[in-house]
Amino acid sequence: PLVLGIETSCDETGVGIVRGHTLLADEIASSVDEHARFGGVVPEVASRAHFEAMVPTMQRALDKAGVSLSDVDAIAVTAGPGLAGALLVGVAAAKAYALAAGKPIYGVNHLAAHVAVDTLEHGALPEPAIALLVSGGHSSLLRVDDLAGGVAPLGATIDDAAGEAFDKVARLLGLPFPGGPPIDRAAREGRLTIPFPRGLTAPRDLVEHRFDFSFSGLKTAVARWVEARQRAGEPVPVEDVAASFQEAVCDVLTAKAVDACREHGIETLVIGGGVAANSRIRSLAQERCDKYGIALRVPRPKLCTDNGAMVAALGSHLVAAGATPGDLGLPSDSAMPVTAVTA
Ligand code: ATP
Ligand code: MG
Ligand code: FE
Repeated sequence: PLVLGIETSCDETGVGIVRGHTLLADEIASSVDEHARFGGVVPEVASRAHFEAMVPTMQRALDKAGVSLSDVDAIAVTAGPGLAGALLVGVAAAKAYALAAGKPIYGVNHLAAHVAVDTLEHGALPEPAIALLVSGGHSSLLRVDDLAGGVAPLGATIDDAAGEAFDKVARLLGLPFPGGPPIDRAAREGRLTIPFPRGLTAPRDLVEHRFDFSFSGLKTAVARWVEARQRAGEPVPVEDVAASFQEAVCDVLTAKAVDACREHGIETLVIGGGVAANSRIRSLAQERCDKYGIALRVPRPKLCTDNGAMVAALGSHLVAAGATPGDLGLPSDSAMPVTAVTA
C-alpha cells in the first residue's frame, strides 16, 4: 500500500511516504534550534512550529515522492505518546487531509513506529522479535509477537530514559542540546577511564528488575565525578567522561536486550528510537548478538530519530495486516501506553 505518515509528537514535523517497505519520501522540519537555549523542548514553541511547518513539509514530501494525496491508500498519524499540544496539530492536520481526500486514517503509537521503521531498511520484521526502544522519553524492552496487534513490555526504565541521560550528561559537560550526538562524537576521542555504575545489574536487581533500566544514578555519579574534579581545580577530561558514560549506558542496554532474546528463545533483536543512532550501542549490540547467533536489526541513524517515515511504515504494516482504520473522531493521547499500537 501507498501510505503517508505524519509525525508531530515532539519537536520534529515529519511527513513520510512509503509504498509497502519502500521509502519514497521522508521530509522533516525541526524546531530544535528554537529550544536549544532552554536545554529542552518548550511545548508551546513546538506546537506553533508544527503549525507553521505542516503544510510546506507535506508539500515537499508529496513532491519528493512524485505522488498526489489522491494516490495514497491511507494516512497514518502519531496519536501518542508525546506533547499534547504538538500531537494535536498533527492529528488535526491528518484528519483534514483524510477528510479532504476521502482516505482512511490510522492513529498510531509513536513508540511502535520507532520499531516499525526498521522494515524500511531490512524488510518485514520476523516475529516474534525482541525490541529495544531507546529514545528521549522512553527506554523499554518489548516482546513483539505481532507488530499490528500489540507489543508486550518486558521491562522499562524506572527513572530517566536513556536519551534523557545523554541530554543531562551533555549539559553537565557543557555540550549542546540534544546531547546524544555531541557525546557520541566526544566519546570517539575518549578512553574508558572511569568505572561509572551499571544501573540495576546487581544480583538482586537481576531478579527483581530483570529487564528494567535505571539511569538517574549514573547521571548523578557523572555529576559527582565532574564536581570533584572542578573542586580540585583540575580540568574535566570531557572526552573520557563522555566515553565512560556512554559505555555504561550501552553496556546495560545491550546486555539486557541480548539476555531477553536468549531467555525467550528469540533470534531477532531490533533497536529503535533516537539512542539507536549511537555508534557505540550499534557496535556493542552487533558484537554481542554475533556471539549468540542473534540477528540484529538497527535502522540507519536518520531513521532512528523522529521522522514521518516511521509513522508511514507502521501505517503500511497495519493496512497490509487488514487493521481497522480510525475515524475522524480519533483521539490523541499524550500518555498512550506502549502496548497499544493504534489509538
Ligand atoms: P520519545 O520517542 O520517547 O517520545 P523523542 O521522540 O523526543 O522521545 P527521539 O527523537 O526518538 O526521542 O530521540 C531523541 C533522543 O535521542 C535525544 O535524547 C537524543 O539525545 C538521543 N540521541 C540522538 N542521537 C543520539 C546518539 N548518536 N547517541 C545517543 N543518543 C542520541
Ligand atoms: Mg527531536
Ligand atoms: Fe521518538
